[in-house]
Amino acid sequence: TEELLRTSEKLKMAGQLAAGIAHEIRNPLTSLKGFSKLLRKATGEQADRYYEIMDQEFVRIEMILGELLVLAKPQASVYQDWDIRLIVHEVADLLSSQAILNNVIIQEQATPEACIVRCDKNQLKQVFMNVVKNAIEAMPSGGLLIISIERDETDVLVHVIDQGSGIPEDQLRRLGEPFFTTKEKGTGLGLMISHKIIEEHDGNIRYVSRSGEGTTVSIRLPQSCAEQ
Ligand code: ADP
Ligand code: MG
Repeated sequence: TEELLRTSEKLKMAGQLAAGIAHEIRNPLTSLKGFSKLLRKATGEQADRYYEIMDQEFVRIEMILGELLVLAKPQASVYQDWDIRLIVHEVADLLSSQAILNNVIIQEQATPEACIVRCDKNQLKQVFMNVVKNAIEAMPSGGLLIISIERDETDVLVHVIDQGSGIPEDQLRRLGEPFFTTKEKGTGLGLMISHKIIEEHDGNIRYVSRSGEGTTVSIRLPQSCAEQ
C-alpha cells in the first residue's frame, strides 16, 4: 500500500488541533483536580499512591506541551548546509540505547557521496528522531532497522525501513493528523510536527507499508544549490 501524503492538507487543521489540545490536556487536569482533593485527607501509602498518579499526569501534560511548543513558538529557523549523513548518524547514536533495550539492530547504509541539504539541523534531527523512534516502537520484539541514505541529481533520500507491525491501509492517510496514535502512551504529535518541518524544507515524506511485514518511511529533501 502506498500513499503520498500531502502535508499541506494535513496542516489545514488548526481548529481540529485546538480542540485536540484542549481535550488532551483536560483529561489529565481533571484527574489532577480529583486526586489533589483526595490528597487532603490521605496519609501514608495512600497519599504516596495519589502522588504517583499525579506525577504521571504532570509528565503527560509536560510531554504534550513539549511537543507542541515546537509548533506554537516558531523559533527562528537557522538554515545552513549540512550533510544529512551526519545528522542521521547523530540520531542513530542518540537512539542506540533505546534500540538495544528493544533488541533492535540499527544499520546505517549511507552513500559515500556527500548529501548536502540546506536545513535547520535541529529541526531535521527532530524529524529523524520521530521517525526512527516510531520504527523502533513498531518492533516490540526486536528486529532490523535499516536507515539508508542516497542521492540523485537533485535530491537526498532517506529511507527508514523497519520489520514491524506495519500500518493498515485505512490508517496510512491519517498519519500526521494531530493526536492520531495507536499507542497507549503515544501523543500522536510526532508525525504532525515532522510533516510540517519537512514541508518547510521543500521536501516530502512517503510511507510504504504492509501489515505484519513492516514499513518504509522515505524522506526526500532537495540538495543544497551551493553543492551543484
Ligand atoms: P505516536 O508515536 O506518539 O503514536 P506519531 O505521530 O509519531 O505518534 O505516529 C502516529 C501513529 O502512526 C503511531 O501511533 C502508529 O500507529 C503509526 N506509525 C508511525 N510510524 C510507524 C511505523 N514505522 N510502523 C507502524 N506504525 C507506525
Ligand atoms: Mg512517534
